[in-house]
Amino acid sequence: MSSPLPSRFRSSVSLVPRFTTGSTRSLTTRAHSPRWTRRSLLGVMGGLLAIGLASCQISGSSSQKPQKPRVVATSTILADLTHRIGKDDIDLQGILKPGDDPHTYEPIPRDTVTLEKADLVLYNGYNLEPGLIRLMQANALKAKKVPVGEVITPLKLDKEGETVPDPHIWGNARNAMRMVETIRDELIQLQPQNRDRFTQNAQALLSELQRLDRWIADQIQTLPPERRKLVTTHDAFQYYAQAYGLTVAGTLIGISTEEQPSAQTVKQLVQAIRSAGVPTIFAETAINPALIETVAEEAKVKLAEKPLFADSIGVPGEAGDSYVGMLVANTQLIVQGLGGTVQKFPQDRPRDTP
Ligand SMILES: [Zn+2]
Repeated sequence: MSSPLPSRFRSSVSLVPRFTTGSTRSLTTRAHSPRWTRRSLLGVMGGLLAIGLASCQISGSSSQKPQKPRVVATSTILADLTHRIGKDDIDLQGILKPGDDPHTYEPIPRDTVTLEKADLVLYNGYNLEPGLIRLMQANALKAKKVPVGEVITPLKLDKEGETVPDPHIWGNARNAMRMVETIRDELIQLQPQNRDRFTQNAQALLSELQRLDRWIADQIQTLPPERRKLVTTHDAFQYYAQAYGLTVAGTLIGISTEEQPSAQTVKQLVQAIRSAGVPTIFAETAINPALIETVAEEAKVKLAEKPLFADSIGVPGEAGDSYVGMLVANTQLIVQGLGGTVQKFPQDRPRDTP
């Protein structure tokens, strides 16, 4: 249950490999969601109002309601999983917004304040979010920092001649189950009095993820074996492909969206698509689709009608606005695009997003 994490998790920020940054960013977009922002603003206003009301009610009394622990999650995927486990017992703040690209995210001054106030910081690790990891290293934080994704043994990929861990571990729903267990144990450590609730919430999520894992595998099985090939914009689907029996036949850019494809890479990708014989290739929500559109045209294949959710969940209200929803939406798109048939994924809970 609440087994303490190995000590490497307490100081592992320094173990995370550092990449050089500053490469061109013209491929990426910073699609901040106005709806999310409005929601956050309303949350802040609601919070202020609540504080005001509370101080009226307790005037004359010295007792105060115990404050909820402040938990910060970097990626939208981590924030969604953490919300499902901590629910109303924690004060959860996600740093990235739906549609933000963690590879190129540049922290804003408010992020420093958020991190400094935190009691627990959950981040992906394996250098998914280099800007935020650097910020955490540069500031002495009181919070315990847990690289939740690093509980998974990573796939190793080549990044500009260097072998690095692939950070996109959530592509395999079974990896997400390990992340859920880690988050649950950290929340219990933070707030032992809520052990039962955290355990129950995590259990419900774990069984949903188990069903999701089987559902994805079943959908992919409807594809003829020679069609089980994926061509995406950036190399974010290796764990998904490996878990569910696909191969990544090619990507426009590597595991970080900071990279800029060369004319040679584009030419090679067109070639790879032709020899793979795939009917459809895929764009991604956080990356400008212009170049992958050109690739599709040149290779004379279709670009899937919607982009995949690679490193971020969708904005609230759209398909893919949760971790489960994102894997469901991606699987539907991939299986339909490659000529299989998709059954509906039975989601057994009311819509509930952070
Ligand atoms: Zn990525």
